Amino acid sequence: STLHQAQFLVTINHLVDLPTWEIPEVAFAGRSNAGKSTAINVLCQQNRLAFASKTPGRTQHINFFGILTKDKTNLANLVDLPGYGFAQVDFKTKSHWNNLLSTYLQTRPNLKGMILIMDSRRGMTDLDQQMIEWFSPTGRPIHVLLTKCDKLNQSESRLALKKLQNKLKELNPHGPYTAQLFSSTKRIGLVEADAMISGWLGI
Ligand code: GDP
Repeated sequence: STLHQAQFLVTINHLVDLPTWEIPEVAFAGRSNAGKSTAINVLCQQNRLAFASKTPGRTQHINFFGILTKDKTNLANLVDLPGYGFAQVDFKTKSHWNNLLSTYLQTRPNLKGMILIMDSRRGMTDLDQQMIEWFSPTGRPIHVLLTKCDKLNQSESRLALKKLQNKLKELNPHGPYTAQLFSSTKRIGLVEADAMISGWLGI
């Protein structure tokens, strides 16, 4: 895989600033603290590519990472969407977030698929479901990483995965939705996740 060639490109706060390139993109979404930044860093084999933003004021940024060749050709991009689910956010922040995320997910022509990060102990929340509902009209694939599966034993993990797969099927019986167990700390599921992302991006 070439994901380790990812480099920070740009941060944007507003829809008008979305780069208009046609390079294929994969977006990473998830509830704050689900383990999204850790997963991106592990998948890209870097320690500090994606930062966890722990403050609600920073929930509005979209970070773009480019997969660059040695001669700096930009083959594909990884897009780190703002984490959601902060308890203390005012109405203005929340509606900005809603508008940014829904518009990005619904109208981005070069967005090949969404990696949705969920804590395996928590499963799918209402806001995760919202993300799926926004993206689903595009017909593009969603792959869920059930992270922190190192915190569950084997039967709990299996149950969490089964439950999530059923829920995805309920939401959209024929949707191109897949899911897997994942652990950044124990490096579980890296190869599968990497293959999914690289496959979508054609890299
Ligand atoms: P983000 O807000 O979604 O970007 O979440 P972070 O990546 O910052 O992770 C939130 C917390 O979960 C941090 O304390 C991480 O160290 C921890 N964490 C992330 N991934 C894993 C994992 O696979 N296993 C365990 N046990 N902890 C994890």
